[in-house]
Amino acid sequence: MGEGDRRSTDSTRDGTRERQRVLLLCAGIIVLFAATDRVTLGYFAWRPLVVRLLWALFIVATALNLRGAGRARTRELMLALAVFSTAFYAALAALTGGVSSPLFHWMLALPVAIAVVIQDHPAAIVGSGLTMLAGGLGILTAADTTPALCWQWAGTAAIMVMLAAYISGSYGRLHAREAALRRAGAEADTRARASEAGIAARDEFLAIAAHELRTPLTSLLLQIDAVERTVSLSPGGVLGEVERQRIGSIARQAGRLSGLIDGMLDMSRLTAGRLELNFDRVDLAALAREVAQRFAPDAAAASCAMKIDLPEPLVGLWDEARLDQIATNLIANAVKYGAGGGIEIEGRGAPDVVQLIVRDHGIGISAEDQQRIFRRFERASGQRQHPGLGLGLWITSELCKALGGKISVTSAVGAGAAFTITLPRRSAAAIESQKPRMPDMEPSRA
Ligand code: ADP
Repeated sequence: MGEGDRRSTDSTRDGTRERQRVLLLCAGIIVLFAATDRVTLGYFAWRPLVVRLLWALFIVATALNLRGAGRARTRELMLALAVFSTAFYAALAALTGGVSSPLFHWMLALPVAIAVVIQDHPAAIVGSGLTMLAGGLGILTAADTTPALCWQWAGTAAIMVMLAAYISGSYGRLHAREAALRRAGAEADTRARASEAGIAARDEFLAIAAHELRTPLTSLLLQIDAVERTVSLSPGGVLGEVERQRIGSIARQAGRLSGLIDGMLDMSRLTAGRLELNFDRVDLAALAREVAQRFAPDAAAASCAMKIDLPEPLVGLWDEARLDQIATNLIANAVKYGAGGGIEIEGRGAPDVVQLIVRDHGIGISAEDQQRIFRRFERASGQRQHPGLGLGLWITSELCKALGGKISVTSAVGAGAAFTITLPRRSAAAIESQKPRMPDMEPSRA
């Protein structure tokens, strides 16, 4: 049985239980009000009491029969309940004084009461209305009421039946709307579960694919490295300038491929919460300078002048490789989206935190896109000319969080972007990881 079917069966079962409870309550009230018959008549009489007991028994039997009854059977039971309840009521009215009984006057309200108790069963209202008409007119005729009064009563009864039918119809519409909402909720749940399963399958596939691609790529990179070294050792050898450039291009493309695969591996590690951090004393200023140097050829190729403003050491307890990755991602993006403008790399140190700012003067990011770019696979709109997976900033932001810090951006379209990472010198995780180590591992304050 599907989740949706189970839900609808559960709600039907709940509905039946609720109806049973209401019916048993009605049966109890009918018996309890036996005392009012004595007040109405001014003496005790067995027959009204017997009618009340039979009526209550009939209601209890109906309530018990409801269990496990299908829709059609429930409708039959409700119709019978409405018709017989009206008949029992008319009999009670007749036995407690007929036209002069207070029960007779309240009889007109019976279809409305039935519409409230037996919701959404128009046939029950019609059945009850016809029975009431027959019973009421019988009582009126027995009391020798004039035809004009009979017609007047019948007209009022008809209006009350219509009112009851309207109430019943309203319940019907309400129930239909509730059922539609329940169905929509169940469908949304099913869709959400399917998409969660799809995302999990995609993540698993990416993790496996990245692992499988890593092995041959590592050996490819080693081979390319060996070829590059051989070529550089034999200047003016057998290879001409064109061949050298081709080898250089192969090396760059393989490096890019390696970066993409590393991104996929990081993503699967971060998603699975398997990121391992090795905290140690690191100087962020020195590290950023080194990464910037690594990017010097790319920046030159993109005509981006790099300005480094890292006057003081920025020392803290961080994972060096991850910090390198953060700086690499930010500087790589500045070169990629910098549109040939200048790039500034700045560092600031405070007693407890440090900041690294990577600023470019390129295409910039709209306020709307700034909300999205730190999420997985999100890229700013209109970025087709710059290839990418949309993972770098997500990984950067996750790594910043893992180091106890955060990343932020200030930017405007066409006015460049400044990414700022703020890191505590000693995050709680770093302190925790240092606990078993010697005190001389404490970072020196800058
Ligand atoms: P990728 O560069 O692979 O698309 P990132 O996660 O590094 O993925 O960046 C997400 C998006 O943020 C990029 O697609 C780009 O639209 C935008 N972006 C990132 N850095 C910059 C920047 N320095 N200038 C303008 N846009 C940027």
